[in-house]
Amino acid sequence: MAPFEASLAFAQSLDQVDILFPFRERFLFPQHDGRDVNYFCGNSLGLQPKAVSFLMQNELEDWAKYGVEGHFNARYPWFSYHHFFNERLAAIVGADKDEVVAMNTLTVNLHLLMQSFYRPEGGRYKILMEAGAFPSDQYAMETQVRMHGFDPYDAIIEIAPREGQHTIDEQDIYDAITAAGDTLAVVMIGGVNYYTGQFFDLEKITAAAHEVGAYAGFDLAHAVGNIPLKLHDWNVDFACWCSYKYLNSGPGAVGGVYVHEKYGNNPSFFRLAGWWGNDEKTRFKMQKGFVPQKGAASWQMSNAPVFNMVALNASLDIYEKAGMPALREKSESLTGYLEFLLKKLDNLSFEIITPTNPKQRGCQVSMLFKENGREVFDRLTENGVIADWREPTVIRVAPVPLYNTYEDVYKLYEVMAGF
Ligand SMILES: *Cc1c(COP(=O)(O)O)cnc(C)c1O
Repeated sequence: MAPFEASLAFAQSLDQVDILFPFRERFLFPQHDGRDVNYFCGNSLGLQPKAVSFLMQNELEDWAKYGVEGHFNARYPWFSYHHFFNERLAAIVGADKDEVVAMNTLTVNLHLLMQSFYRPEGGRYKILMEAGAFPSDQYAMETQVRMHGFDPYDAIIEIAPREGQHTIDEQDIYDAITAAGDTLAVVMIGGVNYYTGQFFDLEKITAAAHEVGAYAGFDLAHAVGNIPLKLHDWNVDFACWCSYKYLNSGPGAVGGVYVHEKYGNNPSFFRLAGWWGNDEKTRFKMQKGFVPQKGAASWQMSNAPVFNMVALNASLDIYEKAGMPALREKSESLTGYLEFLLKKLDNLSFEIITPTNPKQRGCQVSMLFKENGREVFDRLTENGVIADWREPTVIRVAPVPLYNTYEDVYKLYEVMAGF
């Protein structure tokens, strides 16, 4: 890659040769002063694919036209609705199609998976997670531990950044896993930290957990659709994610889970059951005795909330066409350009707390301001640059490769440079 330049013409020249540039056309942008905003919040709520309203209209028509028979006669029959997602989701997270399923929402799925993977026995009852995890994950782990009669302060091991650091030194995770040894039941870490954007080496963490006989599971809210994953090859035990961030599936969209086939295909491995997880051939026999179907789908409880999965369908089509390898390649370059520009800003006092090594981050960059953070954030908003504010003084921006351009990134720089 030729060296970057801090100019609009240079940014535009990169957009002109960007093979993913046309994908921008598939999304709807909020407006500011009669033009598309520069949207950097795809890590918080992705934009709406234009195809959603058409596909939603189809479902409403099919419901009107077929009533209950839509379960089999709809264009995407509702009986099998969750099946339409498997292959495309599996490609994004690096799994076999039977190892994933779209269902529920993230925190609900985290609890359901913990019911299977956190089953304290003897002295093995501890959970290891990152300090400062997303609050929902903290609350989930806290109450999981309590449900089994343990004290969260004893049973939850938190790994924090070292003194004076913002990101976690992975060696500290490995050392803590080894130290916890056979008291450790589960390692449950956010694959990409929501605050700093730090991406962890999921394969090595999984291997370290297995070394002491613990399970390894990950919350992939900020990793899915952002960084190529290989959950199966990395031997990850379980994972879950939401679909409204990088996956652009709308507020409260149906999330997803991954369960390694060695558990998914083992009918005696414990899971909380509902009729939708039962063997499809006998589902409607309404008999006693849960018979789990194959794979992650057996963790399903209820029939698919179709209207809340339409946007996911639209979004996964886009992902399939763009492909994770091309998205990642652009993402590294676009985020690299952002970092290059931010480092030129000598009028502002902030520190980039996201790792500088591209292998340890996705497309998010978090800036910790020493002063004027809120004012800079407000200035961006006034100029139609949509970033995200986190207490105490952090601005997060995520140039997502599906719809952000080099020009977007330059615009952000220009507003900050003019502060
Ligand atoms: C976004 C996010 C959540 C949100 O959970 P929901 O159940 O979807 O509301 C949870 N955990 C992490 C790490 C997140 O980034």
